[in-house]
Amino acid sequence: MNRAARATIDSSALRANLRTLRGACDARIMAVIKADGYGHGIVPVARALADADAFAVARLEEALSIREAGMHNRIILLEGLFHAEQLALAAQLGLELVVHAPQQLQMLESLTQSHRYPVWLKLDTGMNRLGFEPGAAAGLVRRLSACGAVQGPIQLMTHLANADDPDDATTARQVELFSDAVGDLPGERTIANTAGMLAWPESCADWVRPGIGLYGVSPFASKNGTDLGLRPVMTLVSELIAVKTVAAGGRVGYGGAWTASHPTRIGVAAVGYGDGYPRHLGSGTPVRLGAATGRIAGRISMDMITIDLEDAPDAKVGDEVMLWGDGLPVETLARLAGTIPYELLCGVTRRVAMRVV
Ligand SMILES: *Cc1c(COP(=O)(O)O)cnc(C)c1O
Repeated sequence: MNRAARATIDSSALRANLRTLRGACDARIMAVIKADGYGHGIVPVARALADADAFAVARLEEALSIREAGMHNRIILLEGLFHAEQLALAAQLGLELVVHAPQQLQMLESLTQSHRYPVWLKLDTGMNRLGFEPGAAAGLVRRLSACGAVQGPIQLMTHLANADDPDDATTARQVELFSDAVGDLPGERTIANTAGMLAWPESCADWVRPGIGLYGVSPFASKNGTDLGLRPVMTLVSELIAVKTVAAGGRVGYGGAWTASHPTRIGVAAVGYGDGYPRHLGSGTPVRLGAATGRIAGRISMDMITIDLEDAPDAKVGDEVMLWGDGLPVETLARLAGTIPYELLCGVTRRVAMRVV
C-alpha cells in the first residue's frame, strides 16, 4: 500500500557522520540507536553503522531485533535489565548490561548460573536520573567483581545533563566528579554523548556515545548539523493532492486560523500530525517544493497540511513537498514547533514508509 508521507534514510550520510564523529574524539564509539534508531529504523541504521565499536540501546527488544537481523556487534543495554525474567535472553543475545541501581546489583548477585555478563557501572554525577552515588564506586566495583555472574573488569560510565550548553559549568563539574570517583579503578570509561564529544573534549574518555550526531543533527540550540560538518540522514516528504485558489478573506483549515489577504493559491499535501508532523507548527512554517518555498497556512490536520503557494507559482498536484531533510533542517522545524529535533525524529509514525538509500 502506498502512503503519501514517506521518508528516505540516507545510509551514506550515516556512515559519513560516523567518520566525522570519529574525528572529534580519539575514543571508541558506542553508536546510540535506541528508540528505533531515533526514528530512522533500527535495523537499517545498525547495518549502516556496523563499523561502530558497539551499539547502545535502551530496551531488550531493540537488541533482539539487531541480533535477529544477523548482526553480532557488541550491544550495551543503557538502562540495564528491568526484570529477572530478562536475564536469560540477555545472556543468549550476549548483551552488556548497565548496572545503575541496587536491585540490578542484587539480581546479578543472586544468580547461580554460569553465564558472565559484561557490566557497565553507571554513576550519577549530577543528572539525578540513573546511577549510583559517585562515592560508592570503589565498593560497588568490588561487589560486582566478586560476583560470579559478572565478567570483569567492571566498566564505568556517567551521563552529562547539560553538555549541549557550551557555557554551562555543570559539565566540567560532572567530568571532574566522575574522574575523582573512578580514580585508578580498572575498566574502561565513558562519559560523552554527541554534545560532550563536540563541545567538551575532556569528556571523551575511552568510549563515546553519540546518538543525535549520527543522524546528522545538532545537539546545540544555536547550530544545525551542517554547521558541524554532519549530513542529515532523514528526509520526510509527501505530495500535493489538491491545489486551489482561495479568495481574499477566505479562511483556511480547522478554526479558519489563516485568512487570505488577497486571492491565494493554496496547496494541500498529504501529511499531518498522524505522520508525526507536529501540530504545534504554525502558519508561516516553511516547506520545500523543489527549489521553491511554500508556507504552512492554517492548522496542521491529522492527514493533511495546507500551504500558501504564493512563492511557488509552478507547484501542481503530484509535486513532492519536503517537510524536513537536506536543505530544510529538522533543527529549524523543531525550533518553530517549540521542541528539540530528537522528538520530531522519534515521532515519525509507523504509517510513514521508510526507504533506505
Ligand atoms: C541517548 C543517550 C546518548 C546519546 O545522546 P545524544 O544526545 O543523542 O548524542 C548517550 N548516552 C546515554 C546514556 C543516552 O541515554
